[in-house]
Amino acid sequence: MLKRKNYVFDAANLQFLRHRRKGSEKLLRWSMWFVVSILVTICYAFIFQRLFGSPKEELLAQRVDEMRLRYSLLERKIDYASRVVADLRSSDNASYRAVLDLPLIPEDISEGGSGGVFRLGDLTGYMNTDLMMSVRSKFEDLKTQTNIQYNSLTELTDKAADWKDMWAHLPYIRPVNVTMRLGDGMKFREKHPVLGSPRWHFGQDFRCPIGTEVHATGAGVVYYAGNENDGFGIKVVIDHGYGYRTIYGHLSKCSVKRGEKVTRGDFIGLSGSTGISSGPHLHYQIDLFGEHVNPLWYFEDSLTEDEYFMMLDFLTKP
Ligand SMILES: [Zn+2]
Repeated sequence: MLKRKNYVFDAANLQFLRHRRKGSEKLLRWSMWFVVSILVTICYAFIFQRLFGSPKEELLAQRVDEMRLRYSLLERKIDYASRVVADLRSSDNASYRAVLDLPLIPEDISEGGSGGVFRLGDLTGYMNTDLMMSVRSKFEDLKTQTNIQYNSLTELTDKAADWKDMWAHLPYIRPVNVTMRLGDGMKFREKHPVLGSPRWHFGQDFRCPIGTEVHATGAGVVYYAGNENDGFGIKVVIDHGYGYRTIYGHLSKCSVKRGEKVTRGDFIGLSGSTGISSGPHLHYQIDLFGEHVNPLWYFEDSLTEDEYFMMLDFLTKP
């Protein structure tokens, strides 16, 4: 290749003279070439990156796609969990809370409600803000709904325990076995069999021979055991709580003491004819908050003798 040579015109002598560049000129020229080459390279690199992206960017893009996918799957799982909680809420309101006489949870409260923009503010300004906020908002709702249902379940459990306790205490069986026939019930007597004067009979009598076993009709504490000369002779009074007291009168013997705890079906004494009594019988009385209530409303009287004793065995087994 021919080497380029530079000439300058000598006007005085009218001839071209060969021009030799100085070292500084050469350096300047090469420097310019270098700078231009760098700029062109940068431009090419920039355009290439814009079109195809760097490997690192591609990796990041893949990760972003993966995160989007994970968020979408998470959102679907939260939706599913929300539907399950909604079903629970529906059963809770329609069945359990209704049966246990608890106030229903209003729909607008039990649905939880969104956390709002205020709490989600820290997620703003990102490429996938909408998706993240949607997931976060649904999760917050789910958390609220779950807490509400958890509290409701705790309330139901406590209430159910109260009910179980109450049912154990209410006087709900016959105090003597079914072979003992009913005597006088709760009624106004024109003529008392012993006193001869008219007066109310506030209980249910059972005709039973002296020495018949008498059983507590519900769990409670013995409030009185003995004879206080009030006409009932030897008697046992059991306080069942919830406003209930039962009285077992005209006994021949008490088998419990004041303050003793009893459960339904426990043996508490033997029937007799003490006090103002015309003959052997058990006087059974139920008081509710001091008012006399008809004992016939409080036991099932169609059991056979076997069934009655099976029930006692079941109630009193340890
Ligand atoms: Zn009576």
